Amino acid sequence: MRAMTIVLNLARVRSLRSRMSDRAEQRDASNNLWATSYLDLRGQMATTKKAVRVVLLGPPGAGKGTAASGIVSEFGVPQISTGDMLRAAVAAGTRTGLEAKQYMDAGKLVPDTTIVAVVQERISQPDCASGFILDGFPRTVPQAEALDKALAVLSFEVEDEDLVARLGGRRTCAKCGAPYHLRNMPPRVAGVCDKCGGQLVQRADDNEATIRKRLETFHAQTAPVAEYYRKSGGLLVRLDGSRRASEVQVDVSAALRRACC
Ligand SMILES: [Zn+2]
Repeated sequence: MRAMTIVLNLARVRSLRSRMSDRAEQRDASNNLWATSYLDLRGQMATTKKAVRVVLLGPPGAGKGTAASGIVSEFGVPQISTGDMLRAAVAAGTRTGLEAKQYMDAGKLVPDTTIVAVVQERISQPDCASGFILDGFPRTVPQAEALDKALAVLSFEVEDEDLVARLGGRRTCAKCGAPYHLRNMPPRVAGVCDKCGGQLVQRADDNEATIRKRLETFHAQTAPVAEYYRKSGGLLVRLDGSRRASEVQVDVSAALRRACC
């Protein structure tokens, strides 16, 4: 709990420093504040074991990824995306990756045993000692039971039709990976990357039929995870994910400060 307070103090010091002009007395004041917080941090790190372990729940396209970036920069804990880890395994052609690919291409969930093993290994690494953000895990109640380490669970809620429009319009540059959206962030020339001239492609699991399948799977298997967390100790915070990302972020930040500090 104390470590979190200090991390937030450091964040305040950083923003204070960035706002300050070059005048010497302001710089001195800022340095003193910085030094004091640093000493507090060193003194208190040894006595606290509280970690910021955040679970992001919600259907595909509800804004979990954007929220995760905001949490990373505010709280300084790593983001763990099972989607990214699995896509990396698929790209590398590992046995787990090839097995996972068959499920992902069909819009189905990868089996619990595979995912749990991948996640457990990841969160036992040293950079997760002060916490982590899980995005895309747990997706089922058995996975939630296997994790049993959450401190705060944020549930992003958006209507299905809104999600179909959001996800169906996503495009990515095949060459440099730059993201686009047909409605919200279109390229200057249709189908062509502004940055490198590469071809814009749609991810296999972003076509409408697959999106609807993913939403169906979400409602059947992942929605009960929110209910699981609501019953087990009041960790759950519901957020209206249909708003602007910046508005959602204000609520995310407030919820985590309440939970952790
Ligand atoms: Zn490009």
